Amino acid sequence: MLADGVCADLAKTATNIVPGEGNPNADIVFIGEAPGRNEDLTGKPFIGAAGKLLNQLLEGIGLKRDDVFITSIVKFRPPNNRDPKPSEKEESWPYLLRQLRVIQPKLVVTLGRHSMGYFVPNQTIAQVHGKLVEGGEWPVLPVYHPAAALYNRTTLAVLQEDFAALAVTLKKLERK
Ligand code: URA
Repeated sequence: MLADGVCADLAKTATNIVPGEGNPNADIVFIGEAPGRNEDLTGKPFIGAAGKLLNQLLEGIGLKRDDVFITSIVKFRPPNNRDPKPSEKEESWPYLLRQLRVIQPKLVVTLGRHSMGYFVPNQTIAQVHGKLVEGGEWPVLPVYHPAAALYNRTTLAVLQEDFAALAVTLKKLERK
């Protein structure tokens, strides 16, 4: 039987569910878009090229994957890696919300616009990336998706700067 709050349609074409992994007591949760091929085959999030870049960005600010929790808004791979549909994100949201309520992070970092839309609606990622958004259930820091920075040096530089801001923000929130 499928867990509540995952997308039943996507489950039909996927190999594995990719619920997320990391430290269940993490101060910080990273939320991507949806699993790709490698993630679908293994059930582990962010293990392809974008995942390697995410690992480097984490190491750059002194964090390891085991320190944080990494997941995506949609838990099953959309066929041929197409963008998740609004209805698929909607169906997947309750599961993510339950994960966050168990972990209770000090900071949520959305990777890309798909997960950002649930926490910071009606904004573009160009406007809010790298800026802390408070007032919701968790403070949220939106950043670009690592996949967008793989072949774009400008986006990579912005992402590196936003991770530096993330490290400073996390220290401040940990002191609270
Ligand atoms: N991109 C995502 O958003 N999530 C993954 O798990 C892998 C790539």
